[in-house]
Amino acid sequence: MAESTEYAASLLDALEYAAEMHRDQRRKGAEASPYINHPIKVARVLATVGGVYDLPTLMAAVLHDTIEDTRTSKEDLVERFGAEVAGLVVEVSDDKSLPKAERKQKQVEHAPHLSERAKLIKIADKICNVTDIAEKPPADWDVERRRRYFDWATAVVDGCRGVNADLETCFAEAVAKSAASVDAESA
Ligand code: ZN
Repeated sequence: MAESTEYAASLLDALEYAAEMHRDQRRKGAEASPYINHPIKVARVLATVGGVYDLPTLMAAVLHDTIEDTRTSKEDLVERFGAEVAGLVVEVSDDKSLPKAERKQKQVEHAPHLSERAKLIKIADKICNVTDIAEKPPADWDVERRRRYFDWATAVVDGCRGVNADLETCFAEAVAKSAASVDAESA
């Protein structure tokens, strides 16, 4: 009981922090849903699809975009959540000082060298993004741009293989479904 209480408290603490940091942000999709819905969904996919209940992994999933997209620093996360969780968030964060094309290329190159936990988060993140882009694409993303995104996400996930078969299958299904819906739209 004490253990599960601590587990819930830590996860909720991470969630509250992420919600606060992303409070003024919206997703790129046409619906512009609150940004925090995305990290919540990534953590939910890890747990419900991947059967991942490891606390540092779920906390890092909830926090995964705070360094990249908010004023949060690695030091902030170390202080509040410890070095393990902070290190995982750093692993899945792009270096924003690089141009976008280079950042995307680096994600593909780095994927095979990520820790197992970081790979799990990456796959769940890409499942959510691919699904979002198919279901509620950003207004200015034409069919070609969406297809390019699916190809790039697949290249990143290819580098993360071998850590969780259920997540990999879910990703493959999400890409197939999303690609089919884009094909239907352009037919
Ligand atoms: Zn994300």
